[in-house]
Order: sequence, then structure tokens, then C-alpha cells
Amino acid sequence: MNKPIAVVTGASAGIGAATAGHLAAAGFHVVLGARRLDRLAEVATAVGGEAVELDVTDPASVDAFADRVPECHVLVNNAGGARGLDRVDAADESQWRWMYETNVLGTLRVTKALLPKLVASGNGHVVTVTSVAAIEVYDGGAGYTAAKHAQSALHRTLRGEFLGQPIRFTEILPGMVETEFSLTRFNGDESRATAVYDGLTPLTADDVADVITFAVTRPPHVNLDQIVLKPRAQASATRAHRTT
Ligand code: NAP
Repeated sequence: MNKPIAVVTGASAGIGAATAGHLAAAGFHVVLGARRLDRLAEVATAVGGEAVELDVTDPASVDAFADRVPECHVLVNNAGGARGLDRVDAADESQWRWMYETNVLGTLRVTKALLPKLVASGNGHVVTVTSVAAIEVYDGGAGYTAAKHAQSALHRTLRGEFLGQPIRFTEILPGMVETEFSLTRFNGDESRATAVYDGLTPLTADDVADVITFAVTRPPHVNLDQIVLKPRAQASATRAHRTT
């Protein structure tokens, strides 16, 4: 295979699925990972990539996934999300554990498994999708913001630890993106999920995928360290302009 290989985690939906498509269009052979294999296979077929089952919270699944990736030039750590919007004094530990396992330890496991191949490629690139929640806090968001801060710290540490090696590190920090994110956060409550985007134009998954692909396709000596992108109508995690 002549094409460089890009791995995208959480590629069965949202930002991950869009990123798989954009990277395939940019000339990568894309390996897509997620738990829902039926949806993953549909996306993989649409973009001409390869679907491989992956649960980032399960070390055995991550090892089996990494074994299916012969070489790796780009890793997009995208699998993740939020559960709940409870204040700290009402925190549900199982939701916190899910957010840590998926966003933080999931990123650690997949990155650790693929780093040797990324370095060996001679031009590796790790992109980690954190969030504005990695640099801000908001009421009810502590479980998610704590996890995203931790995921960001992990990612940024790698930038220093691998200095001098042929590998780049880019952190993507989106604001509001309309995906299944809010549906997951609110446990399938559609009206609560759609209300998040009422009265403004949120980012789309394609908007984020476009930015990720821009970062990945810069010349090898150019490292875009952190990219914060938000809808024009959103100034911060807590402040947006709505027309309704
Ligand atoms: P999404 O539509 O809910 O997609 C989440 C993806 O993560 C799905 O493909 C899901 O696939 C995968 N995933 C969840 N748990 C997984 C696991 N244990 N192992 C493997 N894959 C898993 O949400 P999204 O908005 O695209 O979110 C993508 C990333 O962007 C997340 O890290 C999220 O925190 C971040 N982000 C989102 C927003 C936003 O407003 N949407 C803003 C900032 C940052 P399966 O369920 O099939 O496994």
C-alpha cells in the first residue's frame, strides 16, 4: 500500500466520521475505530477506508486494534464525550468514571500503542480532539472539564517528551459542534440535546474535520500546537448569542 495510514478513533459518528472522510480525500488510507461496528462499516465504505472494532476503555481491544494497523502516520484521538451536567455536590461517580476512561485513559492507551509506529513512519502526527472544556470550566461541567483538562495535559506533555523525534502534536479545541454529543450527554433526551443549539449556527463535524486535515497536511516542519475553533455566535463555553 502506497498511501500513508491515518487512524481515527470514534469514527462511527460526528467529528470522527467526518475526519475519516476528509483524510481519505486528502490521500490517506484511513483505519476507523469505534464500538458500533455496523455504523463504523457504513462510514468506512462511504469513505473507502477500513473499519476495525475498537473500545478505547478496554486494553485488550486497543491492543487487538493496534495489531491491525501495520504502519501509522497520523493518529486522531477523537473518541470521547460527556455524560451528565450535574453540579459537583450531586456528581454521579459512574459518569465521571466513564468520562475519564473514554477521554483520558482511552487517549493514553491508543496513543501509547501506536507511538512506536508513528515515530517509525518518519513523519508522525498525533491530533487530539479535546474541547474548549479543556481550557474553561462551567457550572455542571466539572466531570467533563476535568477529563478534558486531563486529556489536554496528557497530549501537551507528549509534545515535550518527543521533542527531536519525527512526530508532530496538534490539539483541537472545538466549541459547540452539532453531533450526537449532546444526545450522549443527556442520555438520549432529544429535546434537551437540540436545545443546546437553539438560536445559533453551531459548527458542523465537517468544519472540525476540515481544520484537522489542514493541520495534518502542513509541511512536516510545521507544528500547529493548539487550535481553538468556535461558532461565530459563541464567545466562550458559557456565553453565546442566540436569536431565540
Ligand atoms: P459523537 O457524535 O457522540 O461521537 C462520539 C464518537 O466517539 C462515536 O463515534 C463513538 O462511537 C465514539 N466512542 C465513544 N466511546 C467510545 C469508546 N469507548 N471506544 C471507541 N469509540 C468510542 O460526538 P462528537 O461531537 O463527534 O465527539 C467527538 C469528540 O469531540 C469527543 O472527544 C468530544 O468530547 C469532542 N468535542 C465535541 C464537541 C461538540 O460540541 N460536539 C465539542 C468539543 C469537543 P461508538 O459509540 O460507536 O463507540
